[in-house]
Order: sequence, then structure tokens, then C-alpha cells
Amino acid sequence: MNLRRAFEMAREFSVRIEHADLGTWGAHELRSEYDPSGPVIRVNQRVIESLRANEAAQFISMAVGHELYHHLEHRGDVDRVADRKARERAADAFALELLNQCHFERNEVEPRSWLTEKGF
Ligand SMILES: [Zn+2]
Repeated sequence: MNLRRAFEMAREFSVRIEHADLGTWGAHELRSEYDPSGPVIRVNQRVIESLRANEAAQFISMAVGHELYHHLEHRGDVDRVADRKARERAADAFALELLNQCHFERNEVEPRSWLTEKGF
């Protein structure tokens, strides 16, 4: 999944994407979160700030892809895996599969601007 596709997909599902301070980087859970009440995907601003632009693009794409999987789970589009670890692996696999289908475009080198764009 490239960054543009990640945001387009979120928009198709009417999922907002925001950046927020989710705490210190290091734990898997803290890179991003999905909140079905928005629905909204929050990407950890601290992590984005710690990365170079091209790394940030990949990070955001993976985070959004991962959380979109949780959204599909919530909608019932994919079966909810009972085991939490297995579920998280499935979400990562979903994001990675989408990521591998695309390559990064040159216009994605400044991903931070995507998060502040109106409409996302
Ligand atoms: Zn997850």
C-alpha cells in the first residue's frame, strides 16, 4: 500500500486519519490505533517525527493498512480471529500485502503534509 492508496482506502471507508501523541515509541500498540466510534485511525505523531520522510511514508502506510484491517473486522468484512496475537499478525500481513503491491511514489517523500491536509 502506498501512502496515497492508504488514504484513499480510508476515505472510501469514511475512516478519518489523524495524528496524535500516543506515547513513547517502542510498543507495537503505540504506533497507531483504531477507534470504531469515529471511525478514526490515529497514527502516533511521536513516531512520525522520529523518522526520515521516506521511512515515515512507509510507517504511516503500514499503520493505516493495519488499522484498516481492524476496521474491516469491525464491519464484519473479515472474520475476527479469536487470538489477539494472531489477529495482530493478520492485520500486519494485510498491510504488508497491500504495501507490496505498490511502490512508493516520488511525491510521497513528505508524508507529514498528508496528515494535516483537510479532509483526512
Ligand atoms: Zn492491531
